[in-house]
Amino acid sequence: MSAPDHKNQTVTNRVYISITAAVLLSIALILSGIWNAEQTGQVAENNINASVKIRQLSDAFNLHQQSMSAAIDFAVTSGDASWRNNYENHLLDLNQVMLSAAATVDENIIAAMREKAKAVVETERELFRLIGEDQQVAAFELLASDSYQERKIEQEEQALTLRATLELRSRQIIENLSSRLRQTTFALIMQIVLIVMIWFYIVTVVKRWQLAQTEHRDELSKLAHYDPLTGIGNRALFQLRLESAFQQSKRDNKAVGLLLTDIDHFKDVNDNLGHDIGDKLLVAVAEKIKAACRESDTVIRLGGDEFAIIITNLDSKRDSGLLANKILSIFERDLNIHGHKISTGTSIGLAFYPDDAENGEELLRKADMALYEAKRAGRRNFKFFDAAIEASARNKVEMQKGLISALENKEFKLFYQPLINMSTGEVIGAESLIRWFHPETGMVPPDDFISVAEESRLIIPIGAWVLEEACRQQVAWEKRGMPPLSVAVNLSGVQFGESNLVDVVEKIMRKTGISKNLLTLEITESTLMEDVNAVVARLHALNALGLKLAIDDFGTGYSSLAYLKRFPIHHLKIDREFVNELPHNSHDIAIARSIIKMAHELGVSVVAEGIENQEQLDFLSESQCNYGQGYYFGKPMPADEFEQWYDAVTQPQPEAGNM
Ligand code: C2E
Ligand code: CA
Ligand code: CA
Repeated sequence: MSAPDHKNQTVTNRVYISITAAVLLSIALILSGIWNAEQTGQVAENNINASVKIRQLSDAFNLHQQSMSAAIDFAVTSGDASWRNNYENHLLDLNQVMLSAAATVDENIIAAMREKAKAVVETERELFRLIGEDQQVAAFELLASDSYQERKIEQEEQALTLRATLELRSRQIIENLSSRLRQTTFALIMQIVLIVMIWFYIVTVVKRWQLAQTEHRDELSKLAHYDPLTGIGNRALFQLRLESAFQQSKRDNKAVGLLLTDIDHFKDVNDNLGHDIGDKLLVAVAEKIKAACRESDTVIRLGGDEFAIIITNLDSKRDSGLLANKILSIFERDLNIHGHKISTGTSIGLAFYPDDAENGEELLRKADMALYEAKRAGRRNFKFFDAAIEASARNKVEMQKGLISALENKEFKLFYQPLINMSTGEVIGAESLIRWFHPETGMVPPDDFISVAEESRLIIPIGAWVLEEACRQQVAWEKRGMPPLSVAVNLSGVQFGESNLVDVVEKIMRKTGISKNLLTLEITESTLMEDVNAVVARLHALNALGLKLAIDDFGTGYSSLAYLKRFPIHHLKIDREFVNELPHNSHDIAIARSIIKMAHELGVSVVAEGIENQEQLDFLSESQCNYGQGYYFGKPMPADEFEQWYDAVTQPQPEAGNM
């Protein structure tokens, strides 16, 4: 499970747990609320019943007592003893009421009342008897007697106490009930508030979860379609956008442009300044490219230092040319990456749908061919794909196949161009230069195939063959009786970067038996500019073999003089480019002079390449240049021709040569 998936799962689980807990808690609260209400209802019913019953008791007590008194009054005043029945009935009921009251009131009170009542009732029965016997006067006297009246008053007081007690009890019951009701209401309100709070919380949790879900979906889609380092689109987005751009193009009949670009020498930035700075450079470049594009363009990191831009809504190819120029200008000045000033460049290839390609794959391939062509044309420029580019790409593939069979069929040959000591005019050696004799097309110059050989790394076996062949030739010349001529061999940057280079060179030297100091390896200035510490180590290892080292094409790579001091080299070869216009171009004059001066200060001798005329020779001799090479002395030639040439120039004949 990916990190965002895992995070999302955790959040989702938490939401489920919260909802379940909320539901359970709410159910528990509702049930307890119902139970509480139920209980309170029960209590209310009981209490109200009790209260009503007590009040009824009190009322009944009152009623019966008054009825009994009334019965006596009636009997006494009317002399009618039949009221006795009425009296006795009420007495029975009163007893009943007292019995019932005993459940609610203190039993002692009831017992005391009964005690008192007994005496009163006895007197009152006596009263009825007297009335029944028509002794009304005696009845009156009994009724008015102090003892009866006193008892009556006491009984009255007791009755009042009983009723007061009953009423108090009834009031207490009602008060208890209302406090119980208040408690229940409070509890219910609290439960409702709690439930509302819980669900309010749940709503918040769910909302947050929904937000997280949206973020999660966005994050997944970002991971799938965007480059985590630079934040711009990746290959997956490239496919998607390209497809939709094609659909759009079909609808509105406008072309789709694909711009491909990469950062020159990005590997060097990584190697020399570290991957962290390399990453920061990529981020900065991605930002700048994005800023150069329109909103409707899609910027993609295809991988490594390769970027692509899908340009839609194109009215003309010119528009995409403008964008290409904007991107080139990003690199015009040094880029400041975390305090490092990085000077690099870019090359750009462009291809168009539907003119150049019918589908995405083809479009990418063709833009890539255009990019390759832009690099070949010297970098820092852009190229539109065209038929010529396609042909050259096809040629490249053909050429690789051809180079493989050339090695097998021994179609390579070495030519030798003489090297002259400018102060003595002596021939001191030769530079070996490869030629390919193609069975169909004839001689192919190295400029046409070396770059393909380097790209396919076929230069490694080819270069090894060259070295062995040149050494073998040098030894053969010595055997032939020629004075010790040095032989210079060109070493490609690809060969120089091979970890077993020193072993390979040593083996070949041993195998051929060449004198150590008669072999010179020429390494181009641009090769030496890569990773300085590694280069210095490698040069020292080669130097330790006893051979000589020359920096080729010097002046084209703008190498730092500080580095030069650390290189154990013997010769600097001034590039033909600076010799060509001597002595008429003041710029070239200044360069040639300063290279010679600087080399001499470092104890290094200078070779001028491409000397074609007397003027150039004179100027260079005057400028203290040590050695010369060029058509003026001799063109590159096969070994046997070189021998003849050598014999001719070294024979003391007046018109044999120019020296
Ligand atoms: P380079 O090493 O700078 O070789 C000198 C080139 O200048 C040779 O071209 C040579 O023919 C040419 N040249 C010499 N004198 C004159 C002159 O007076 N005028 C003009 N216009 N040109 C002159 P070539 O032989 O075509 O080789 C071209 C390049 O191919 C070489 O440049 C070298 O970089 C590469 N190369 C040649 N042979 C080998 C090889 O065996 N291995 C590798 N790695 N590269 C090779
Ligand atoms: Ca050379
Ligand atoms: Ca050269």
